[in-house]
Amino acid sequence: MATSFRPVRVRFAPSPTGPLHIGGVRTALYNYLFARKHGGKLIFRIEDTDSSRFVPGAEAYILEAFRWLGIDFDEGVSFGGDKGPYRQSERRDIYKEYVQQLLDSGKAYLAFDTPEELAAARAATPNFQYDATTRGTMRNSLALPDVETARLLKEGANYVVRFLVEPGQDIVVQDIIRGEVHINSSVLDDKVLFKAADELPTYHLANIVDDHLMEISHVIRGEEWLPSAPLHVLLYRAFGWEDTMPQFAHLPLLLKPDGKGKLSKRDGDRLGFPVFPLQWTDPVTGDTSRGYREDGYLPEAVLNFLALLGWNPGTEQEMFSLDELAEVFSLEKCSKAGAKFDYMKATWFNHEYILQKTDRELTPAFLRLLADNGVDTTEERACAVVGMMKSRVNFVKDLWPLCEFFFVAPTAYDEKTVRKRWKEQSPEQMRELMDVLAGIDDFSIRGQEAVVHAWIESKEYKMGDIMNAWRLMLVGEGKGPGMFDISAFLGKTETLERMKRALEVLA
Ligand code: GLU
Repeated sequence: MATSFRPVRVRFAPSPTGPLHIGGVRTALYNYLFARKHGGKLIFRIEDTDSSRFVPGAEAYILEAFRWLGIDFDEGVSFGGDKGPYRQSERRDIYKEYVQQLLDSGKAYLAFDTPEELAAARAATPNFQYDATTRGTMRNSLALPDVETARLLKEGANYVVRFLVEPGQDIVVQDIIRGEVHINSSVLDDKVLFKAADELPTYHLANIVDDHLMEISHVIRGEEWLPSAPLHVLLYRAFGWEDTMPQFAHLPLLLKPDGKGKLSKRDGDRLGFPVFPLQWTDPVTGDTSRGYREDGYLPEAVLNFLALLGWNPGTEQEMFSLDELAEVFSLEKCSKAGAKFDYMKATWFNHEYILQKTDRELTPAFLRLLADNGVDTTEERACAVVGMMKSRVNFVKDLWPLCEFFFVAPTAYDEKTVRKRWKEQSPEQMRELMDVLAGIDDFSIRGQEAVVHAWIESKEYKMGDIMNAWRLMLVGEGKGPGMFDISAFLGKTETLERMKRALEVLA
């Protein structure tokens, strides 16, 4: 087959109608992986021919989301390339030419039906469809005498161009994931391809013309576009482009976490997870929707999580870098069945990626978190705390409640812990410990450990009593890493000061 030698060129072609849904991010990711795997190109096209659904800021949002995620495009809006413009609203003249081509070859026709006439037809006939069975009764260039069509055009009557669908043909969509999907053309309607009112094509025409002109080899997109595919196949035929028709791959739906139905924004609101990559504020209502970035997910975690929603490597491996994914990804291993949006897994991935990052890499985010909470400290100290505590959190932001005590001395002491851990002998023992600590020159973890342990042994104290009471004094409650980690981090002066204050309050 000639097609197998085509260079791989795939596209992600969102319509700027709002924030990019997480399912769209997965579609883009799979296109990206497929392109990289095959040494191909990934194109970013904006499909903005439906002016009624245009939302300002959506395009910039989408671009920002991919920048954050680290998904690069090779060509397209804001990336350049020699097959542009890549924004469909800038390609009107191109589409007009192709609409004319279909009209000239009798594959499309003009329809003058007003919205009222269409509504009346729908009311009169149950399940009305504009097709071979009904078009003869409507006001279009096939049903009207030529002079009437000419007159309407001259008058400047509003019209649309409809695709002439021949009934009774078997249409085959070859889908890499789903195999052969057969459909009879009789179920299709004569889709509107172009509207004279705004001189713009509809999605279907613009999409096909652009895929052809941009030499797209594979169309990888969400399952929701599968119903459009038979029409697209017919359009390729009508243009005579069958030989270069892209191969289709319709990705499985993202399902609600319980698997019952399609994932929606409401599921996210209800269960507390984002369905958008970045936070989004609706320009009209001002409503804000949460995003993975603002919720504290690492981009690597989001990508890894999404990669496994609908594709699996056929092995037990779960952690994949983008490079590894690009190596092992294949459309053949994508499933037909919908993928449950197991958002807890996203949290798990975030934890794993936090563990994988070096302390240094996580430090800037932790420093920001500290600054937000009014703590001004050095990179060194922030980094040290990250190292002690990162294994305990799923998100960097969770470090604050766990780590506040490193930077802010406790002013109150948790009652329950006091009742349990502050014993009768504690004040005396802690006074002694203060003396012991004061005499230590090497206040490192090891330096303290040796001396304090020797003291505990010589006094035959219980290790637990000492450590628990000491912890309460430095932390204010019963949590935190090893005591010597804490005291070494605080340093001798701060350690002794905290102990002194605690004794005043507790003794
Ligand atoms: N503009 C469509 C969308 O918003 C593109 C569908 C396709 O990839 O063909 O998803």
